[in-house]
Amino acid sequence: MKKLILFGPPGAGKGTFSGQIKDVLPEIIHISTGDIFRENFKNETPLGLKAKSYMDKGELVPNDVTIEMVRDRLNKKDVEKNGFILDGFPRNMSQAKALSEITQEDFFLLLEVSRDIITKRILGRFSCSECNEIYNKYTLQPKVQKEENKWICDKCGAEIEFKQRSDDTEETLKNRLDTYEKNAKPIIKYYKKRGKLKKVDATDTLKYTKDDIRNIIGI
Ligand code: AMP
Repeated sequence: MKKLILFGPPGAGKGTFSGQIKDVLPEIIHISTGDIFRENFKNETPLGLKAKSYMDKGELVPNDVTIEMVRDRLNKKDVEKNGFILDGFPRNMSQAKALSEITQEDFFLLLEVSRDIITKRILGRFSCSECNEIYNKYTLQPKVQKEENKWICDKCGAEIEFKQRSDDTEETLKNRLDTYEKNAKPIIKYYKKRGKLKKVDATDTLKYTKDDIRNIIGI
């Protein structure tokens, strides 16, 4: 049972890397705070509607809401039994400290990638609306293309269209990267001090074999 925190700038490939971890540890629970907010918005819950106004500006959703949401999820039985990959949390020091009170992580995996690559990834990324498989218009298209901007999902066979996430615009991206850079330093220092920091070159994580991934997560 592993408890992993995935940390890195937007577009570092946290979602893709989580999928690679699940390939070697299928039972582990992937918890993405961004996905939970988007799911809530889709279902028009009060939490989703509140989060959306921050997300659209590239700002962080307030800590009280976010921390409670993560606490609830981490305290569920499936997570206690199977471990977790926490993706997108913590994003500031208050969240990091709150998390240490909720649970003790095995590793804090820092995904490192240049700003150039991030921009390309974010502005080209899209996902399958049925199964959430992640693709990129420039670097990782589904295998079967039907027409301009339309493909068949490799994983579930649904027809998918290139559609950016509403917060994946150039202007919002700048804000999100600035927010990340401002908050990242003390968080990285905090986990380094706890002896949990592990750096991962995320320029192209798909080049990692299953053994590489096992090595990274210590199984
Ligand atoms: P992501 O999918 O991780 O890029 O997150 C998308 C957006 O959701 C972020 O830009 C924030 O507005 C919000 N969000 C996700 N995780 C957090 C968090 N830990 N704290 C505050 N806001 C978050």
